[in-house]
Amino acid sequence: MRGKLVVGNWKMNGGLASTAALLDALTEGWRAVPGRAVAVCVPFPYLGQTQAALTGTSIAWGAQNVSEHRGGAYTGEVAASMLADFGCRYAIVGHSERRQLYAETSAVVAAKAVAVLAAGITPIVCVGETLAEREAGATNDIVLRQLEAVLAAVGDAAARLVVAYEPVWAIGTGRTATTAQAQAVHALLRARLAVAGAAEIALLYGGSVKADNAEALFAMKDIDGGLIGGASLQAGDFLAIARA
Ligand code: PEP
Repeated sequence: MRGKLVVGNWKMNGGLASTAALLDALTEGWRAVPGRAVAVCVPFPYLGQTQAALTGTSIAWGAQNVSEHRGGAYTGEVAASMLADFGCRYAIVGHSERRQLYAETSAVVAAKAVAVLAAGITPIVCVGETLAEREAGATNDIVLRQLEAVLAAVGDAAARLVVAYEPVWAIGTGRTATTAQAQAVHALLRARLAVAGAAEIALLYGGSVKADNAEALFAMKDIDGGLIGGASLQAGDFLAIARA
């Protein structure tokens, strides 16, 4: 049976002191549960601090973004090999905020996934439709197209991905997909992943997951956990979701 994975995406929040406090609260509050994995994806400057705090615990860590390039003259960018130096297990690629605010195309997202895999890190590939796309009946086409770009680029390594379905209209809005809506998209993604030999990878749902809706979402057949934004900034809320 597939285990559950719950990943916090802290986005561009926190400072040295609040990061220390949150990491402390997480390590004090989390007791390993068989079949459940937990990770936090923190801002780049706090990776060293996170590595120091979480090494030896059952909480993994990762980054929220990465360069598609291996190294060189790319001012301001961070290579996947640098994330590996800080013990990252995961790197989020293709979050909708990157796609929308930084014009990341599916081709760039795919190149990032390849770079992350080459560094021995697991990419968490985000896919999801906007509200307009959902209302136009284009959800399936959009998420499959986004996934397709990554599958074409990673080839045989598809089984090393994590995929997160994050409807854009549910991110940070307090509006969650219904369990049926989320399950339907997850089943579609799972079927496509099965063709790529990756039927058993973790498929996460993200979009206003809270302690009071996590259990119902995670109980769905093809939902293997969540990618958690806002609620991951409060240790109590995040750990309640991780236990759900
Ligand atoms: C996210 O940013 O990946 C996310 C799911 O955010 P939120 O939980 O705040 O909707």
